[in-house]
Amino acid sequence: MPRYIFITGGVVSSLGKGLTSAALGALLQARGYGVRLRKLDPYLNVDPGTMSPYQHGEVYVTDDGAETDLDLGHYERFTGVSAEQSDNVTTGRIYSSIIEKERRGDYLGATVQVIPHVTNEIKNFVLSDAGDVDFVLCEVGGTVGDIEGLPFFEALRQLSQESPRGQTLFIHVTLLPFIKAAGEMKTKPTQHSVKELRSIGIQPDILLCRTDRKIDSGDRRKIARFCNVRESAVIQGLDASSIYDVPLAYHDEGLDAEVLAHFDIDSPPVANLRQWQEISHRLHNPDGEVNVAVIGKYTVLPDAYKSISEALVHGGIAHSVRVNVRWIEAEKFEKADEVELLLKDIHGILVPGGFGRRGVEGKIRAVHLARTRDIPCFGICFGMQIAVIEAARNLVGIKDASSSEFGSDGTHVVGLMVEWTRGNAWVERDEDTDLGGSMRLGAYPAHLVEGSKIAREYGTREISERHRHRYEVNIAYKDVLEAAGFLFSGLSPDGVLPETVEIPEHPWFIGVQYHPELKSRPFDPHPLFAGFVGAAKAHSRLV
Ligand code: GLN
Repeated sequence: MPRYIFITGGVVSSLGKGLTSAALGALLQARGYGVRLRKLDPYLNVDPGTMSPYQHGEVYVTDDGAETDLDLGHYERFTGVSAEQSDNVTTGRIYSSIIEKERRGDYLGATVQVIPHVTNEIKNFVLSDAGDVDFVLCEVGGTVGDIEGLPFFEALRQLSQESPRGQTLFIHVTLLPFIKAAGEMKTKPTQHSVKELRSIGIQPDILLCRTDRKIDSGDRRKIARFCNVRESAVIQGLDASSIYDVPLAYHDEGLDAEVLAHFDIDSPPVANLRQWQEISHRLHNPDGEVNVAVIGKYTVLPDAYKSISEALVHGGIAHSVRVNVRWIEAEKFEKADEVELLLKDIHGILVPGGFGRRGVEGKIRAVHLARTRDIPCFGICFGMQIAVIEAARNLVGIKDASSSEFGSDGTHVVGLMVEWTRGNAWVERDEDTDLGGSMRLGAYPAHLVEGSKIAREYGTREISERHRHRYEVNIAYKDVLEAAGFLFSGLSPDGVLPETVEIPEHPWFIGVQYHPELKSRPFDPHPLFAGFVGAAKAHSRLV
């Protein structure tokens, strides 16, 4: 049985529990251990697929097609372990499974209750399918004291009682605010938060205290005493200038050593942190910078594009440049007189995934400018569909080219397909399918055209990438677009679905129907992000 580490949060949200979990996962790996990371989300949605990006940030898609919390993206980026559907559960999923069982008569006449039925379901989820790893790290979303989080805390409390001694560990992430008027760091919110946790039967073993300045020894002693933990278990979590410095910083503060000591692991392997030192060194010593414009719809909340902004950082690591991202609302491109200002000092244009009609004409205009001015251009999912619509309008002359996503007007060069193949299984879909479940989701293979730029970037012609979309570029337009200078450089294995497009005559113009950003890692930058940033770097030297 693996050892279990439960990560909870207190005081306020947004303290970086997800990052803490991911960084601890990376540190345990650096010591040679196998890890699996999981997230328990107390909200009632079955998954975040239908939530607005403003509510929830990005929806992170796994290889097996699950729409999950963006923290799973952190887990993958820090550990390289591919997350699965079984690594994220919500209250909604727990309840829907219980109600299904109840209707089936599985509970044999019992009254179905939070304890034990909901808590059992949560425990089963935490314990199931963990694989052959040394540690399972399990993060609870939200903050202790939230009503909807209670069944999760209760389930973890039970689990730690039911497990063999020394098999589980609780880490509580809290905040130490500095009150300017008093000139003091305050420990009281942490004390209260731990009190709240203890009132539901959980004594944290380690406190990870987020702070913007160092914790002095007096405060450390006080926190230890009032919160009933060892002084060495009060770990300082200073704000970091890059998230990729966090594993090194937490290692220096003794986080992994404290975890291993808790589990009575004598003389554990020394941490090999070379890759994190290298990443940190490259990030802090860039050899120049490039400016990339991301033309999106949710740009006021960069969390909506979390994996894209991280993948751009990784592209920067690959080329030792700092990537400055300018988030631009697509609608701004609809006003012709602002365009020059928007594009000033921009070395690359990225059009990310998106849904719905708003901002479409602005995105088309941005892609048009990138194409005609030889600015490196990367279209992702919706961005590829936009690139095809732009080319159909302006290269082929189909003036009303559009997508059926925007309504019934126009010529639909992008449209809905009613049937999909996945392996040997046929999945029927149509416009009436539930919105939450009608997308092409998860990993699908594609074949790349020999000699294409994208095949060179990947260094292979066989790829597998993650999808999340309903609409597809219509293959019927392949010939006319190719005659006009476009190349359909990647197709689904059956040759029916366009997966990638490019313009061979352009310095760097690639569109992909999938989400490459989901598979980029700081220690293994995605080839397309590395290629795009490389092209932006070359462009920056020209302008
Ligand atoms: N809205 C488009 C579709 O559903 C693109 C989705 C996306 O960019 N993720 O096909």
